[in-house]
Parts: sequence; structure tokens; C-alpha cells
Amino acid sequence: MESLSANIITVGDELLIGQVVDSNAAYIASELTKIGVIVSYSLTIHDHLTTIATAIDRSLNQCPLTIVTGGLGPTPDDLTRESTASLLGVSLKTDSEVLAAIHNRFAILGREVPRGSERVAQVPEGFETLSNSLGTAPGLWHQRQDGNIVVLLPGVPHEMKAIFSTHVIPRITHLQGREMIAQRTLKVAGIGETIIQHRMEAIAHVIGHDLMIAYLPGLYGVRVRLTVRGDNANKRLNDAENFIRKELGATIFGSDEDTLESVLGELLKYQGKTIAVAESCTGGLVLNHLTNVPGASDYVLGGVIAYSNRIKQHQLGVDENTLKQHGAVSELVALQMAEGIRNRFCSDVGLSVTGISGPTGGSDIKPVGLVWIGYADAEGAFAVKRQFGDDRSLNKQRSALAVLDLGRKTLLKRSNQ
Ligand code: ATP
Repeated sequence: MESLSANIITVGDELLIGQVVDSNAAYIASELTKIGVIVSYSLTIHDHLTTIATAIDRSLNQCPLTIVTGGLGPTPDDLTRESTASLLGVSLKTDSEVLAAIHNRFAILGREVPRGSERVAQVPEGFETLSNSLGTAPGLWHQRQDGNIVVLLPGVPHEMKAIFSTHVIPRITHLQGREMIAQRTLKVAGIGETIIQHRMEAIAHVIGHDLMIAYLPGLYGVRVRLTVRGDNANKRLNDAENFIRKELGATIFGSDEDTLESVLGELLKYQGKTIAVAESCTGGLVLNHLTNVPGASDYVLGGVIAYSNRIKQHQLGVDENTLKQHGAVSELVALQMAEGIRNRFCSDVGLSVTGISGPTGGSDIKPVGLVWIGYADAEGAFAVKRQFGDDRSLNKQRSALAVLDLGRKTLLKRSNQ
């Protein structure tokens, strides 16, 4: 049996000029993939009658399922309904239930039905309406005589999602040809894409050829997406994951929705430890990350943004001579900052970061992008060097993530000793 495939078409000039990011296509693609529908392509087109009709026509002739979002609103630039009706050679008829729902919605709000709003009640003949609990324009579902399906959805993301999850997904699960797909994204920090790829190739060789691997490098680390299709996909994926975790060890910091800060937070909670942070070049970014995790108050005590040498000395107890001899961006200063914050806040763990974010302030010996990050706990303190690039904003972000990763790796190492 042929696999069930789908095309996604998103309509809107705002998407093509870069004013709005096409989040609808990403959402639909991810939901379809989860239920075993293969997305062949995603196409963005502008609000134009013929363009919309041509795109839908081509897709309907190629593929069993076409999902369209946008252009279902009440304004004259919303053309998806008209365009689809003319493509299929059917007329638009006012749907009395949709019309009643619009009147009811505005009555509840105590407002007159705005001019033009009734336009969204026009439904191409032969289309089924999918009720919209969050707005006026319903979704529209149509199965052609050849069995191929076109679904029209509003562009507003939260309305589209509500209709898609309530009405579209349950209908699709009844269609033939869905394939079991199991997917997991492993998150790797501290080693580059090429090294991971090398090691993964050897692993994939052992696991077998039906494991598909994709590498998605990001700001700090690489997401490794594993896909297994077919019978027992979940079990085979779990086996592959276990094997890979053994091979790559602590460089894998988590999977799917995990972040460095959520994983570090879990470790601290599990070990019953508290943390405090002394930040120079990151200006509070490390604490921002840490406190983005719900429940962070269980382990985060606080921190000091010690941007100037005076604050490093007076708030963290960094030695004046060390600053003079080694400079603010140095191993000893990072180490003393980590110890200083730990002592000052009486935390179990102290983290620190001091670096040259750029674009100015670098030298031959200490170039822009040089960062020292420190760690202190009851077993001792140390600092490690990182060298990033010359983009100030990226340097700040990568430094913050490097600090979180140092905390994570050291806590893991200490607990395994
Ligand atoms: P409306 O009733 O608001 O006119 P509509 O179905 O006609 O809804 P659009 O007019 O195309 O949809 O878009 C409505 C809103 O949703 C706009 O703010 C638009 O930027 C946003 N939007 C549309 N398509 C997408 C998309 N693919 N991804 C993210 N946002 C989108």
C-alpha cells in the first residue's frame, strides 16, 4: 500500500515579505509526521486568485492530502474560498449554521455583526464545515471523487491549531496508508557536528540501515534527530537510542524538549543542591536561562552581575592583585568569582563567567570571543577556557550556554566519582 502523503500550502503576502514567520506550516508538518503522514512539500504563496487555484490544483493531482491555511477571513484580500470554488467548478453558498454561529458569537459579545463578516459563512458546494471555537471562519474539508482531499483552514495560528487538532487529525487517522514513524531528537553539547557524524556513522553501521539520522547544528551543540519507520518503530528507536547514549555518553545532555538549563535544574534538584552565579560578560543571561525553568526557585539562590572590576572585588572578593596581574578575563579571576559567589550566597555550587564579547576590547593575547568559565563547590574550584567568534550577541549566548554545560557536566562527574 502506498504511504499517505500530504502537501501544505500557506497563503499570505505577509509570509512572503518576511513580516510573519510561517509557524502554521511547521505546526502542521510536525503534527502530520507524528501520526505517520509523510509531508512531501510545503509551499508559501501570495494572496492571488489564480496562484491559489494553481497551487491547490497541482497538489490535489499529486497527493492524497492538501492542507491550506490563510485567506479565509472576511476581507477582500482573503481569496482562498473563491479560488478553491472556481477551481473545482462549484458555487459558494451561505451556510446557515455558520451564519447563525457568527450572529451568536457577536450577540454574546454584545456587538453588531461587522460588515463583511458574513462572508466567512460562504462555503463552496460539497465542502464540509469544521467548526471554529476560537473565531468566525470555519475550516473546510472536501474529498474529491478520486479520493484526494483538500482542507482549508484559517491563517490565525491559534484558530488553525484548534480546528486542526479537533477536527482534522481525527479524520486523518481514519485514512489508509499511515506508516508507523518513531522519532527522537538527542541533544549533544560540547562536540562539533563532524565529530558527532563520524561517531554516529560507526554506530549506525552497528544498528542497521533503517535508522535515519539528521544533524541540526545550533548555537551551542547539535540536535541529532533519529527516525525509525515501520513495524515496532518505537521499540527499535528505543534500542537505537540506548545504544547511542552508551556510545556518546555525557555529551548527550537530553532529548526532545530538554534544554541545558532544564537538565542542570533536574540534576540540582535530584542532588538536593543550590546554585548561585557570578556573571560579567553575559550580563545576567545565565540566570535568565536558569530561571526560565518552572520551579527554579527550588535550587537557584541568585547571582551578581559583576561587570566592573570594582564589583568583582567588592561583591565577590576577587583579589585586587590577581586582577592587576592577570586581567579580568583570566583563569584565576573566573575561579575566584565562582568561589566568591558560592561563599557570599552560601550555595552548594557557584558558577562564573568572564570574557571579551567584542567587537572591541580584544588583543593578540586575549582576542575577542575569549571566555573563562568557573565552577566551585565543596570539592574545589576550577576554571576552563572557551574561544568563541567575534559576534557580541552570539558570544554572550554561547558563553551562557557553556556555563550551564560546565555546571551540568561537573555535577554529573562529581556524582559518578
Ligand atoms: P482572518 O480572519 O484574520 O483574515 P485568515 O484565514 O484570512 O484570517 P490571514 O488573513 O491570512 O488568515 O491571516 C490572519 C493572521 O494570521 C495574520 O496576522 C497572519 O499574519 C497570521 N498568519 C496567517 N498565516 C500564517 C502562517 N502560515 N503562520 C503564522 N501566522 C500566520
